[in-house]
Amino acid sequence: MKLSDIRTALRELRLSPAKTLGQNFLHDQNLARWIVDQAQITADDYVVEIGPGLGALTCFVLEKGARVLAIEKDTRLANFLRARFTHRRFEVLNIDALKFDPRSLFAHRRVKLVGNLPYNISSALLLKFLEPPSAISLGLFTLQKEMAMRLSASPSTHDYGALTLRVQLHQRVKYLRTIHATVFFPRPEVDSAVVRLLPRDALELPQRDDQLLLKLIRAGFSQRRKQSRKLLREYVSDWDTASRHLNIDPNVRAEELSLLQWIALANFIAPPPSPDARLAQNEQFPVVDKNDRILRHASRSEVHGNNLRHRAVHILIFNQAGEVYLQQRSRWKDRHPLKWDSSAAGHVADGERYDDTAQRELNEELGVRVALQKIAKLPASQYTDQEFIWVYRGSISGDLVPNKSEIEQGAFLPPSVIDGWTSSRPEDFAPGFLECWEAYRRKTQPGSS
Ligand code: SAM
Repeated sequence: MKLSDIRTALRELRLSPAKTLGQNFLHDQNLARWIVDQAQITADDYVVEIGPGLGALTCFVLEKGARVLAIEKDTRLANFLRARFTHRRFEVLNIDALKFDPRSLFAHRRVKLVGNLPYNISSALLLKFLEPPSAISLGLFTLQKEMAMRLSASPSTHDYGALTLRVQLHQRVKYLRTIHATVFFPRPEVDSAVVRLLPRDALELPQRDDQLLLKLIRAGFSQRRKQSRKLLREYVSDWDTASRHLNIDPNVRAEELSLLQWIALANFIAPPPSPDARLAQNEQFPVVDKNDRILRHASRSEVHGNNLRHRAVHILIFNQAGEVYLQQRSRWKDRHPLKWDSSAAGHVADGERYDDTAQRELNEELGVRVALQKIAKLPASQYTDQEFIWVYRGSISGDLVPNKSEIEQGAFLPPSVIDGWTSSRPEDFAPGFLECWEAYRRKTQPGSS
């Protein structure tokens, strides 16, 4: 929209732009088009736009043929947008974007997040939408220039800090260009900049304990001028040994450590588990016939190598909110590494009954023991890797203690989100889980037997 159109629209809406909502409207149409082009949007994309305002970017996103979900807090603007864009591909949600549940986006195959963000909440928005597991495949944002520089900063620069590392841990951030304040009405006090964020590949960075890493980073940057040896004393008692091991200056400050060095420090404090120890043990499993009767016993490699029928359990653990814990399988697994799977799962071992295995796996993988209820038995087939599977469910009220040698990461998700995710991106899941989830939903959804 041209500046004159913006003024007219605001007058008609009786809207005087609110600073608290970061209401600065872009009136340079060439720039708006350029910004949208940087998101490489196609008709296959589902684009979420935060803070669409009067639709400066929205019109160019719609031109690309994509579906658009626009989240606008201001009711007058939301209504204006509904009247301006009547495409079936366009939907407006008149809510605070901080209250939107981004997990629902897993129901779409390819999701891009764009926005000229309200500056006062831009870091909260970014963290909320991009924290893993995130459905977003690309983020393109106009931010306050200072924030854009913090997100894209390199070590040993003024802008490099805890936020830089928190975002760069999962995203590659590119500063695309600076935008002068004059292209907005009303004109903000500071310049802006456009950044593009692309999620890192799962194996791009070494395995690590993210919780510990983020604690270290927070402590390290709590007093910028102090040396890390002092700020991290609680975590590293022998700093000289640590700095020698990591080949860093013993007097280093937080801002001088790269992301990889921070990860190396976390891994020095808590070395990541080595590849699943159980894989090395050449476990023995019962081999069964088509009626699940035991024929003999064989090693894991023989069972899997020759596609022999065997037995397994899958367990779905629910929290008090009715959400299911899904685990992402460790990068070291011999089968389906990094795929999402049931809360816990495993093979029935020699001398075990299904129920024994379920309790053992639950304890080994999630560190809990709870009463389990049998849900369904699946036949061995190509879809279950020739496993007969008993599916169990259980509930917890406390915390899980995920075993890091088996689990890359995990998350509690509402069943409706899992329904959407499994149908939009089945390749994200271990095939056995898809079978188990379908069986579970058949049993538990209204109208099921
Ligand atoms: N995209 C438009 C443009 O470029 O002209 C407007 C950008 S303006 C910087 C920020 C927009 O975010 C405003 O329309 C404002 O009403 C909206 N907004 C502010 N806080 C919001 C929130 N918490 N959730 C959703 N929208 C919000």
